[in-house]
Amino acid sequence: MSQKWVYFFGDGKAEGEGSDKELLGGKGAGLAEMTNIGIPVPPGFTITTGACVEYYNNDRNYPDGLEGQMEKAMEDLEKSTGKKFGDDEFPLLVSVRSGARVSMPGMMDTVLNLGLNDVSVDGLAKSSNNKRFAYDSYRRFIQMFGDVVLGISHNKFEKILRQMKQDKNVEIDTQLDAEDLAKLVEEFKKVVSMETGNPFPQEPKEQLKLAVNAVFDSWNNQRAKTYRKIHKIPHEWGTGVNVQAMVFGNMGDDCGTGVAFTRNPSTGEKEFFGEFLINAQGEDVVAGIRTPEPIKDLQDRMPEAFQQLEEVYRKLENHYKDVQDIEFTIERNKLFMLQTRTGKRTAAAAVKIAVDMVEEGFIDKETAVLRVAPDQVDQLLHPMIDESTSYEAVAKGLPASPGAAVGKAVFNAEIAESMREKGEDVILVRNETSPEDIGGMHASKGILTATGGMTSHAAVVARGMGKCCVAGCGSLDIDEKAKQFSVAGHTVKEGDWITINGTTGEVIIDKVPLVEPTLSGEFAKILAWSDEFRTLGVRTNADTPKDSATARDFGAQGIGLCRTEHMFFEAERIDAVREMILASCEEGRRRALAKVKPFQKEDFLGIFKAMAGLPVTIRLLDPPLHEFIPHTDEDIQRVADASGLQFEELKRKASELHEFNPMLGHRGCRLGITYPEIYEMQCEAIFEAACELGAEGQTVVPEIMIPLVGHEKELSELREMVERVAEESFEKAGRKVEYLVGTMIELPRAALTADEVAAHADFFSFGTNDLTQTTLGVSRDDSGRFLPLYVDKGIYSDDPFVSIDQSGVGQLVEMGVQKGRSVKKDLKTGICGEHGGDPESINFCQKTGLDYVSCSPFRVPVARLSAAHAALKNK
Ligand code: PEP
Ligand code: MG
Repeated sequence: MSQKWVYFFGDGKAEGEGSDKELLGGKGAGLAEMTNIGIPVPPGFTITTGACVEYYNNDRNYPDGLEGQMEKAMEDLEKSTGKKFGDDEFPLLVSVRSGARVSMPGMMDTVLNLGLNDVSVDGLAKSSNNKRFAYDSYRRFIQMFGDVVLGISHNKFEKILRQMKQDKNVEIDTQLDAEDLAKLVEEFKKVVSMETGNPFPQEPKEQLKLAVNAVFDSWNNQRAKTYRKIHKIPHEWGTGVNVQAMVFGNMGDDCGTGVAFTRNPSTGEKEFFGEFLINAQGEDVVAGIRTPEPIKDLQDRMPEAFQQLEEVYRKLENHYKDVQDIEFTIERNKLFMLQTRTGKRTAAAAVKIAVDMVEEGFIDKETAVLRVAPDQVDQLLHPMIDESTSYEAVAKGLPASPGAAVGKAVFNAEIAESMREKGEDVILVRNETSPEDIGGMHASKGILTATGGMTSHAAVVARGMGKCCVAGCGSLDIDEKAKQFSVAGHTVKEGDWITINGTTGEVIIDKVPLVEPTLSGEFAKILAWSDEFRTLGVRTNADTPKDSATARDFGAQGIGLCRTEHMFFEAERIDAVREMILASCEEGRRRALAKVKPFQKEDFLGIFKAMAGLPVTIRLLDPPLHEFIPHTDEDIQRVADASGLQFEELKRKASELHEFNPMLGHRGCRLGITYPEIYEMQCEAIFEAACELGAEGQTVVPEIMIPLVGHEKELSELREMVERVAEESFEKAGRKVEYLVGTMIELPRAALTADEVAAHADFFSFGTNDLTQTTLGVSRDDSGRFLPLYVDKGIYSDDPFVSIDQSGVGQLVEMGVQKGRSVKKDLKTGICGEHGGDPESINFCQKTGLDYVSCSPFRVPVARLSAAHAALKNK
């Protein structure tokens, strides 16, 4: 016996059911379920998604048994409806619609009114006692079948229709009479003969087979493929095909059709939401030929049908316990349901609906939390482009930090700062940013760069600041000197308005209106419920008291990474830092560092206070040495003046320090090993600040973190240094504080030897930005040039700098945890790379048994929700 490919539904029962989405597709499962629960659904049958898969495996031929099963189902359908395919008295007409496992709205094809031909059109005219309706259906069928199945452009038919309306001097289709429509049918048939060289197919069974093939084929049309790529839907799934007896919304003014949501999908309000058209078929609503009316008006127009619809939509929502997206047709005041599926909704609506449904007793808190997609709620945390406006993007880069920004283009960080001081909104446009741009970045509404990937400096810093950023926008030709960029035939000069959309990567040469996010009470509730379920801690990456406070407001339970390098670039300090780097002896370095220390202590005091006793992990200095080197003669001269050193001598030293590959150069703990004075100064500042607050009665437990360790001896040497400085500082302060010393695991060697490294560490924090860079051998700052293509081609399913490469980098993380804990059972482990705010990566962290994730302040809510999802899914 061949496999079962066809599932019938009708007469109050179906062979399938609602849980058969994989088998029947979402639409097929919905139709089966509605039939089973007694909702009026026209009978029909569903061809399985597996049949579509086999069709492709068989070189676009039907699998064994499908054709026979379709014929049998057609006979059953004839019995159920009392009508016959192609009949001259009571012809059966069917619709043929696609339906994949998850809805892909509008991406695939549909054919309506199938079964009409030159004979059955008269049968339809007789049986409906409505010739106009019969010919209207026939002309619609030829047009749709011509377009979808025979590949004839829709416009060829539309043109003829328009001409006829003009000749008859009427505005809308419904004003054409039966004779007009019969003429139209003849004209349309001529178009088909001309375009295909064959007459319009008259045999209903042949029509059906061709339409089913067309729906199978539409699984692989370009827009469906693109949609699947964007939404990560596997290409292997295939689509189901639903063949269903037609009901008619176009038989007169007691008929109609519409689409609706059981709640408002945009705001989440509990209100029936949708639209309908009187005397029309489904495609009229979608095609926008006539303007539909709001659903509430149906109550006045067809009170009886509206009442049926209200009962049905309530029943459906009660049954599914979720918002449904429904399609219906009213034939002579009787309601028929053609579709029900889970309604797509905005983030704001998702949150409100989830909370409301808990309060209404529909679902429990667990379900509510799982109903809100973490990726989606990021939308709620940043200003956004007002969705009701239309705009045109001139370029697209990487969506590096979400939200949108409107401002005047500026090409230099200092100018950004000075314009901001004058109250102007600016967007910093750079080929790439460097730490020196930090002030300008801070002063800007958003950041746009031509090079750099998702973890480039600009991207990381922007996310940290919660500022919108479009990075790696390669089509921009930026001339920083001339203060302009050109793209797609436009030139934008300093002061011209632009808008960037960090959620999509779009760049727009215009001022597009934005709307501010509002954090609703419902969102706070979802997050509070998330906290009840999650087992992972959520910390933040924050370097300033302000960011720390923001993160705490969002619910961060501590700082997982305080990067100290930005502190060194601030205006009052950079000269002293440069003096330190360029000094020729230890004594010179110490002299210069002494100037920086008071600032450092203030930094730490501010952060400790903002975190009020929560744990704070401070990472000692990490960036490549070369970033501190003064480049211009003017900068070198300033250092010479401050230090009393010779200009020429300084210039020579600066050129000596140049690095070819700074990311793999003199950075991280290598700075601490070669210039211990730097780390000593930082530790003194940390301990002095902690003791000072301790004296005021505050508890501070600093966690000192050593970056870029590859060898246990690097850590053991630096740990000794930290302990020595701690003792000295405690002695001076006359009091002690508790503290931890840990390390980042961000080099493969550290992960491979994690058992050795763990001997000297109180905690591990996985720096997956560098770990990804060094494991893949892909530079963080250059990846933007080629990684998008890799992702397009599916070499990596996601940007590995955004979502952790679980099979590669992930193994090193697992190994690090396991080896580390093999020598220290309770070793605390976390992640502080950008992946710490990515839902998929957070799920990985849960499975790997990390204690916490740490992410930028504006990602904290996303991480709390993701951690709850991870805990519930891996329960
Ligand atoms: C990392 O490498 O993952 C990390 C957090 O450090 P940074 O991004 O500062 O190099
Ligand atoms: Mg790092």
